[in-house]
Amino acid sequence: MKILVAVKRVVDANVKVRVKSDGTGMELANAKMAMNPFCEIAVEQAVRMKEEGQAEEIVAVSVGPQVCQEQLRTALALGCDRGILVTADSDVAPLQVARILKALLDRENPDLVILGKQSIDSDNNQVGQMLAALAGMGQGTFACKAELDDGRITVTREIDGGEQTVSLKLPAVVTTDLRLNEPRYASLPNIMKAKRKPIDELTPVDLGVDTASNLATLRVSPPAEREAGIIVETVHDLVDKLKTDARVI
Ligand code: AMP
Repeated sequence: MKILVAVKRVVDANVKVRVKSDGTGMELANAKMAMNPFCEIAVEQAVRMKEEGQAEEIVAVSVGPQVCQEQLRTALALGCDRGILVTADSDVAPLQVARILKALLDRENPDLVILGKQSIDSDNNQVGQMLAALAGMGQGTFACKAELDDGRITVTREIDGGEQTVSLKLPAVVTTDLRLNEPRYASLPNIMKAKRKPIDELTPVDLGVDTASNLATLRVSPPAEREAGIIVETVHDLVDKLKTDARVI
């Protein structure tokens, strides 16, 4: 059984990002970058399946500029066997990423594809669903539990107000939610070993995909500044403020 995991390079979740003064995007020139946290969960899930003897090979894939090699090396240090970098601009649109991944599925024929449920930079939550549709595969999105059994995968999905369990025939697409697992840290020996694992490089053209997007970002703006709060002395004052200032009661 082969698993393909998609890992995206994004700004580190701990970085306080700023909008560029001209409103065309985020100021990322010297920002610390990292693997998208939901992709870390995807890698961890694949590695656990391999450790349990359910998978033989894990291929990590990233679409983006050369520096995405860093996130692929991290995936290899965490237990993936080889990497594929599809070199492209850093802002390839979700549909184009899905098309690239679909072309890779046709080459690699994995039994299972695991992606994050969403990228924390663009908050799209689209690639997994689009990929499943393009590939004609079943999808188990927002997974908080995933169990392989005899050519199928049972996925428990986090949905509004509860959980939903679906059974998918393999090959299938799974996207990870926060509670699926707690990703491990890479050990130093595994970081060293990862340097010798192979990373192949392809271009979208090699895969027959046009990355020209049908999507344009018009403007990026920061959220409105929150006003400072106040501390009231008594319950009476609180009720008064809620009535007269906030007008919510
Ligand atoms: P999104 O639909 O952009 O929120 O991304 C959902 C998931 O799709 C991510 O967590 C990744 O697993 C995958 N993905 C999105 N963009 C890329 C990319 N450029 N390279 C590799 N995987 C990606």
